[in-house]
Amino acid sequence: MNSRNPSEKSKSETPSPDKNRLTFLGTGTSNGVPVLGCGCEVCSSADPRDNRLRTSAYLTAATGERILFDIGPDFREQSLRHSIFRIDGVLVTHPHYDHIGGLDDIRQVNFTMGGPIDVYGADETLAEIRERCGYMFRVSQEGGGKPKIGLRRIEPYREFRIGGLDIMPFTVMHGEIAILGYRIGGLVYITDASAIPERSMNVFLSRPVDTLVVNALRPLPHPTHFNLEQALELIRKVSPNKAYLVHVTHHFGQEQTQAILPPGVTLAYDGLEAEY
Ligand SMILES: [Zn+2]
Ligand SMILES: [Zn+2]
Ligand SMILES: [Zn+2]
Repeated sequence: MNSRNPSEKSKSETPSPDKNRLTFLGTGTSNGVPVLGCGCEVCSSADPRDNRLRTSAYLTAATGERILFDIGPDFREQSLRHSIFRIDGVLVTHPHYDHIGGLDDIRQVNFTMGGPIDVYGADETLAEIRERCGYMFRVSQEGGGKPKIGLRRIEPYREFRIGGLDIMPFTVMHGEIAILGYRIGGLVYITDASAIPERSMNVFLSRPVDTLVVNALRPLPHPTHFNLEQALELIRKVSPNKAYLVHVTHHFGQEQTQAILPPGVTLAYDGLEAEY
């Protein structure tokens, strides 16, 4: 029996059916937080928001589509927490392990959906998936629980559709390598960026951005990721209604960091939901 009184549920907890909802499944950098073997203040914090799975997000569109941004090694845990039984497309930003390491666990979603799931990415991303997950594409006996995925090649600045959603992929630089970010209506999703090319800035500035998600690794500069100052600089330029920081290290405790962020900027944490 559910003993919870329905009137306890505050209005802000009730999802609006006419809005898109982005759920932050993970907000940590590649090694997650706590860091294995680290006893720092953040890694030993009692605040559950200081536990961060690898960065990923799940979009529940008002029009019904369900989109997953990246599928890292914590995907199984994330799908259990958030009952992810349906995925109409996985938008992969790049093939680093913390962004594709959960692909094998998509097979349970194949089972609940009764078919293959499309995985979208740039050429290099799809080539890496083919190489590292070769067993998924070879003919072998059924029954071993092999994932069924369809690789869908996309190109930066060439809009495509999943269901009724128009999706614009754009280039961001991750150190020396060009990877993808995604714009879907008022949402701009960026992770693992260290620089934004001019053409991508135009994708953000051509029409207003409601919700900007951007990586902010740590306070100090880093060769392949924005630090906090650089992420805040991008937020100032794009000027969204709301901005969310993701892909962070154990250098950022939730409470202490949130207290120093400008209005409209939130240090995202696992399980946080943003509506737009
Ligand atoms: Zn990463
Ligand atoms: Zn630590
Ligand atoms: Zn990366």
